[in-house]
Amino acid sequence: VLSGTGLVKAFGPAVALDGVDLDVGRAEAVAIMGPSGSGKSTLLHCLAGIMRPDRGEVRLLGDRIDDLGERRRSALRRTRFGFVFQFGQLLPELPADENVALPLMLGGTGRQEAVRAARAWFGPLGLAGLEGRRPGELSGGQAQRVAIARALVTRPAVVFADEPTGALDQATGHDTMRLLVEATRDNGASLVVVTHDPGVARWCDRTVEVRDGRLLVPSPGAA
Ligand code: ATP
Ligand code: MG
Repeated sequence: VLSGTGLVKAFGPAVALDGVDLDVGRAEAVAIMGPSGSGKSTLLHCLAGIMRPDRGEVRLLGDRIDDLGERRRSALRRTRFGFVFQFGQLLPELPADENVALPLMLGGTGRQEAVRAARAWFGPLGLAGLEGRRPGELSGGQAQRVAIARALVTRPAVVFADEPTGALDQATGHDTMRLLVEATRDNGASLVVVTHDPGVARWCDRTVEVRDGRLLVPSPGAA
């Protein structure tokens, strides 16, 4: 579904990505692990069209997306991708259902229809009854589930998540992660998730390790 080939990205003299190839299959969940500063977020940002690589290509369903201008990449992110990040991702002044409805409204769906579609996600994600709460009135785990609903509401091809459970205790983090992996898979979307937690990576189909801007060759027999 999504492939990065020969991705290189430098920030001044610092080479953050040094020739990475990564193919993500349909409805496949890929965990990206590796030490701090190894290039995980940079890889995710290049794959997701947030950042343009200096060299290499990113293709979504065979079409190049890395060479598009910011306006078209932004439209693509809104329509084809979903995002779950750690902090400040819900708008504090909007109730949960409107937070989930937001990507649909940005895409031109009317408010009522968008909110109705958004609410359909609350039951399956264990959020029934919380539709009208503002983010400040939700627990961290509940807020992350609202963020998962918001990432899936547009029925994206790929969901990107960067340390989505970093702010949660371990048990809540695992539950949230499992829900993210399962809900993404159930909806036929692929998942690219950056995590430091091997327990979290276990829920994914595959783990890749980034070291100094390169992918480690997986050891034979590794899960
Ligand atoms: P962490 O686990 O701490 O989030 P990471 O693996 O996500 O780390 P990246 O954020 O991808 O690491 O950063 C890789 C390298 O690129 C680091 O050396 C970092 O300092 C550098 N870097 C990342 N973003 C920028 C930027 N916008 N400007 C300058 N350098 C950057
Ligand atoms: Mg990072």
